Amino acid sequence: MTISTGIGSAETVGLFERHVIPNYTRYPVNLVRGEGSFVWDAEGRRYVDLFPGWGCNLIGHCPPRVVAAVQDQVATLIHVPNTWHMDAQGRWAAMLAERSFGGQAFFCNSGAEANEAAIKLARLATPPERYKIITFEGGFHGRTLGALTATAQPKYHQGLGPLVAGFVYAPFNDLDAVRARVDGETCAILIEPVQGEGGVRPATEPFLRGLRSLADEHGLMLIFDEVQTGCGRLGHWFGYQHFGVTPDIMTLAKALCGGIAGGAMLAKREVAAAMRPGMHASTFGGNPIAARAGIATLETIEEDRLLEQGLRLGERFRSRFAAIADSLDLIRDVRVLGAMIGVELNRDGGPIVRNCLEKGLLINCTQGTVIRLLPALNLPGELAEEACDILIGALTEYANS
Ligand SMILES: *Cc1c(COP(=O)(O)O)cnc(C)c1O
Repeated sequence: MTISTGIGSAETVGLFERHVIPNYTRYPVNLVRGEGSFVWDAEGRRYVDLFPGWGCNLIGHCPPRVVAAVQDQVATLIHVPNTWHMDAQGRWAAMLAERSFGGQAFFCNSGAEANEAAIKLARLATPPERYKIITFEGGFHGRTLGALTATAQPKYHQGLGPLVAGFVYAPFNDLDAVRARVDGETCAILIEPVQGEGGVRPATEPFLRGLRSLADEHGLMLIFDEVQTGCGRLGHWFGYQHFGVTPDIMTLAKALCGGIAGGAMLAKREVAAAMRPGMHASTFGGNPIAARAGIATLETIEEDRLLEQGLRLGERFRSRFAAIADSLDLIRDVRVLGAMIGVELNRDGGPIVRNCLEKGLLINCTQGTVIRLLPALNLPGELAEEACDILIGALTEYANS
C-alpha cells in the first residue's frame, strides 16, 4: 500500500493498534471532515466518496437539514427513554407509515437490531409451534447472533457455534427450493430484495411475487430486510416499491437517519399487534436525536427531489459502465438499481479499490469480485462523471496489467 500517513494520522493509527480491537480491516487513512460527497483526511487530502458511510450517508456527508435538526435537538432534549411519549418519534413513525404500507414502527439503533426485532415479531405473530425462518444463501442481516444465523454465509459463522435454532437456508431466486422448505413449523421468510453485501444481486420480481403468494398460502410473515435498499437507495422510498411486492415486516437502518445511528422495524398493524408492552425494547431506540435526524432525512429527500435524482444517477452510472463492459472482459456483469451499483469482475477487485484510493476516490469491493458503489443520491452529475473517469481508468489499467 503506497498511501502515506502524515504525522497526525500515524499517531492515530498507533492508538488504534494499541487500544482498539482489530476486528476491522482499516486503511491507514484518518478521515476528519465530510461535506456532500467529499471527505478530507488529516493531511488535508480530499476524496470523492462513492461509498459514503457504507450506505449510511445516502444524502451526503453532514446534510445541512440533519445537522440543523440534531444541533437544535441536542441542546433541547438529548435522551428520554420509551417510558414517555416524545414529539419527534411519533411524527417520524407517521412519516414512515405514510411513505410505506401504513403500519406501525419499532425503533432501535442498527440493522442487526431491527432484524432481531423482526425475528421476534415473526415468532410472536404466528402460532407457537411455528418458529422456523427461511433465509437466503448470500444474504446478509447483521452480526448479532440471531441476525448472524439468518445470514446464510458460512464464512461469518466460523468458530461461533452453536448458532440460534430455527433458521433454514434456501438458494436465492429459486421459488421451488423455498416451497420445498416450508413446513408446519415455518413462521417467516426473510430476504433482502437486493442482496447488498452479497454483491448487489437483485431478487427477480416473479420470485418476490412467488414468496408473497407462498407466505399468504401458508400464513407466513414475509420480511424484507431493507437496511441497505430502503430509505431511497433504489430511487423509491423503499425497495419493495421498486418490485411492487409488499412485505408484512420491513427492517431499516443505514441511511434512515442521514448518517446518525438509527434503525426501525415497520410492520403491518395486524402483525404489530402481537408485540405487546414488555415484549421487546431498546433503550436508545427512537431517541429524540435519531428521530429529528430521521425526519430531516425524509424532508431532505422530498424537498430536494432526491428519489428522482437517484434514478437519474443510476442511469448515468449504468451507461458509463455499459459503454466499456463489452470491450473489457474483466467486467462480467453490471447491476444498477437506482443508487445501488455493482460491477462484477472476473477477478479480485481489491487492487481496484486501492488504486482508486490512491487517486482520491473511495469505493468498496464485496464478495471479492464485486465493485460496490452506494453513492449519495445528491452526488452532482459532473462529480459522478469525474468519479467514473477515475474508476474506469483503474479498471482499464487493471484489465491490461
Ligand atoms: C448493513 C446491513 C445489516 C446490518 O446493519 P448493522 O447496522 O451493521 O447492524 C443488515 N442487513 C443488511 C441488508 C445490511 O446491509
